[in-house]
Amino acid sequence: MHSIPVNAPVITAAAKRYVADAMESGWVSSAGSYIDKFEAAFAAYIGRKHAITTTNGTSALHLALAGLGVTEGDEVIIPDFTMVACIDAILYCGALPVLCDIEPETFTIDPRDIERKITKKTKVIMPVHVYGHPADMDEILALAKQHGIAVLEDAAEAHGAKYRGRMCGAMGDAAAFSFYGNKIITTGEGGMVVTDNDVLAARLRRLKDLAHSPERRFWHEEIGFNYRMTNLQAALGLGQLESIASFLERKRTMAQRYSAGLQGIAGLRTPITKDDCENVFWMYAIVLDATFPLSRDAFRAALKDRGIDTRDFFYPLHGMPLAAPFVQQKDQFPVADDVALRGCYLPSGLAITDAQIDTVIDAIRTIARSA
Ligand SMILES: *Cc1c(COP(=O)(O)O)cnc(C)c1O
Repeated sequence: MHSIPVNAPVITAAAKRYVADAMESGWVSSAGSYIDKFEAAFAAYIGRKHAITTTNGTSALHLALAGLGVTEGDEVIIPDFTMVACIDAILYCGALPVLCDIEPETFTIDPRDIERKITKKTKVIMPVHVYGHPADMDEILALAKQHGIAVLEDAAEAHGAKYRGRMCGAMGDAAAFSFYGNKIITTGEGGMVVTDNDVLAARLRRLKDLAHSPERRFWHEEIGFNYRMTNLQAALGLGQLESIASFLERKRTMAQRYSAGLQGIAGLRTPITKDDCENVFWMYAIVLDATFPLSRDAFRAALKDRGIDTRDFFYPLHGMPLAAPFVQQKDQFPVADDVALRGCYLPSGLAITDAQIDTVIDAIRTIARSA
């Protein structure tokens, strides 16, 4: 049967040309002109002074936390509903993750829960722009300022998203991006940290390259990491980045088409974009309320039978063995628990066609009607 994948990327002609050029040049490792070009272009796009490439989004988060000085005994606040890399990066630093519940409409971290969970040990707040919708940054930045805490945005899913006119990734002390194959800009595997802070940027560059002493090469005073991106990946990223405007336009028209086609189905909640926000719909995420005739799992299985691939929402972190040592009995995450059971996302890749979107819509209408 003809099937519709949940995510198929588009690799542009420019990207292919640049990768071939990087190969021709012989600069296949982490030195080479595409690294500088990609970092400069990405920094300019986000509107930040520095952009530092890494091996992936997880290492970008870890590098940023290490650069911000997060260490044993520090607490880092993250949403309960996010990709596991967020908690892993904190644990690599030996620090303590502190989980917060999320907002029901955008699935992003709830600033009221952040306020409750700030302590003297809180070093960083890490909001995540989930599925391409910005977190409530003004509230978060105000809390951080009031308590002298750094903010690290996880913008892995939100290249080009905007919050009150500001770019996601340009609001916190630093931000981390991922360029995994399903992200809006991809380098295959890859990541980036962006910041305006010169001192932090220099520190990140040193740490990601094994912390060579600035004065003496092969001399090391602290633990570093090898988080260097290759020139080949940067070439791919630069080529992809040149098309970001059309990628974002495609995400917008995809979401509009889905939302128009899925209107009026009882119990099916289409994504909400808050006023003053630009959602980039990294994934077109829906929630099935109690009035929908099928459970989320039965719904997904019915789509699968028709060759349509979907994905569950994240499991809340607090329920996973990995996070158990950091969750207290009194901690409650009712919103994360609820949407995690009811949510899924539809095929949303850049390569999706209007005809495929219409096929998905028709399938959902048929499934809802005949249940
Ligand atoms: C993809 C993703 C990451 C991790 O990026 P990788 O490149 O896969 O390591 C981190 N956070 C969020 C929210 C993500 O979606």
